Amino acid sequence: MYPAEFEYFRARTLAEASRLLRKHKGSRLLAGGQSLLPAMKLRISEPAALIDIGGLRGLAGIRAKGKTLVIGAATTHAAVMSSPIVAKSCPLLAETAAQIGDVQVRNRGTIGGSLANADPAADYPTAILALDATLVAAGARGERKIPAGKFFLDVFTTALKAGEILTSVVVPAYGEGTGGAYLKHRHPASSYAVVGVAALVQLSGGVCKRVSLAVGGAGGNPVRACEAEAAPSGSKPDAKAIEAAAAKVASAIADPMSDTYASGEYRLHLATVLARRALMEAVSRARG
Ligand SMILES: Cc1cc2nc3c(=O)[nH]c(=O)nc-3n(C[C@H](O)[C@H](O)[C@H](O)COP(=O)(O)OP(=O)(O)OC[C@H]3O[C@@H](n4cnc5c(N)ncnc54)[C@H](O)[C@@H]3O)c2cc1C
Repeated sequence: MYPAEFEYFRARTLAEASRLLRKHKGSRLLAGGQSLLPAMKLRISEPAALIDIGGLRGLAGIRAKGKTLVIGAATTHAAVMSSPIVAKSCPLLAETAAQIGDVQVRNRGTIGGSLANADPAADYPTAILALDATLVAAGARGERKIPAGKFFLDVFTTALKAGEILTSVVVPAYGEGTGGAYLKHRHPASSYAVVGVAALVQLSGGVCKRVSLAVGGAGGNPVRACEAEAAPSGSKPDAKAIEAAAAKVASAIADPMSDTYASGEYRLHLATVLARRALMEAVSRARG
């Protein structure tokens, strides 16, 4: 399979990437190429030009800033997975990165590419939503901060405007007494998430102070399961409370997807089971 013809430009600075994007109509950014190139080979995507941002200095890297982590958009999944800063401040994200694809995909694919692509079966969007992260985009009019809750709009659709480049993701570090878990039902052929669930639980005095639960893969974009989050708040997270919370997850998924591998009904079942397991794991990790 060969892609349609395209021009190729290697940007040396963010400003140059932005200028090239505006100049070449129908152009697309190229990061790790792990989603874009397969789509081009299948002719699902036929960009007139590729603007390669893979080598941009300053777009990759992870640093702690106050009570947050700032992760450059061009940071690979492998770098997130093995970062001591992520392991210490937000292990849920490392756990998510470790479950993406295979070694080759994790070494090439980037967090910015995954988030901007917004594949409903991708893993990062679900984790980023549960973590209440903020996405930072640069465009002709300067920088814009977009909360994760407003970023994922639909299948392969985000709040990024034409010509905007995702530059970093700002992730809040875990607070005291917090545990998190990301679990997925892995598609046996592609390893993408048929359904993925990210759970974050903060305990104080043995009761739930804060619960955050996001589900991906079940609908067009990841969603927060708000009713399920509210259920155990202020109470002891025992097995009964967690079971009751997980039972409310399906109400967050208005229009579950069906395909040849999994029906909508099966996806709702997976979401409920994975939510229960992820919450149990998060509670156990929060207890330390
Ligand atoms: C065999 C295989 C298995 C995979 N398994 C999984 C899996 O289990 N879970 C999972 O989540 N993913 C999986 N993936 C996808 C992988 O994680 C990709 O790396 C990721 O989705 C896209 O990142 P990328 O850096 O490769 O982006 P690219 O493919 O280069 O780009 C993807 C899209 O994002 C745009 N883009 C890239 N960077 C930016 C930016 N900074 N700002 C704005 N737009 C940008 C591009 O223009 C393009 O439209 C798999 C891929 C393959 C090939």
